[in-house]
Amino acid sequence: MTDWQEQNENEQRDILSIYGSVSFGKRYCPKCKRHAFVIDGILQCCERRVSEIDRNDVIVKVESPGGMKRRHLTMKKKIVILKSQRWKCIYCECELTEDSARFDHFVPFHFLQTNPVSNFVAACEICNTLKADMMFENINDASKYLKKKRNDKGIQ
Ligand SMILES: [Zn+2]
Ligand SMILES: [Zn+2]
Repeated sequence: MTDWQEQNENEQRDILSIYGSVSFGKRYCPKCKRHAFVIDGILQCCERRVSEIDRNDVIVKVESPGGMKRRHLTMKKKIVILKSQRWKCIYCECELTEDSARFDHFVPFHFLQTNPVSNFVAACEICNTLKADMMFENINDASKYLKKKRNDKGIQ
């Protein structure tokens, strides 16, 4: 194997990105020609289903969050998301209205570098505030964390 081939192969290996206390697997997408997050088995760049990342065979990178870009959704997209969540908070499942719903990137935009609508979630104000910019590998982990936080703070 030449140096060039070896380097090329290394560049396309799976990555485990560490952000503070959370880690995310990233896989090289040959179609998009870049590494993208794999969340719940879905490649976030083009939303293809892939096998889970083997965390024992990855390049570990410590990343630093910074300068997050917020994007705003149109009302039309907000309604699509609300309907898909049956007008319920993605985390605690309380009822939401157009006015009470807060929309956020499940994984902050800065980390994804792309903006799939599937990354947007609608949440109630309390869940949205408690979650802030924390990252979770899936919605279920986030819900569990938020439930515990609510209990700790005595919020129903
Ligand atoms: Zn892709
Ligand atoms: Zn909620």
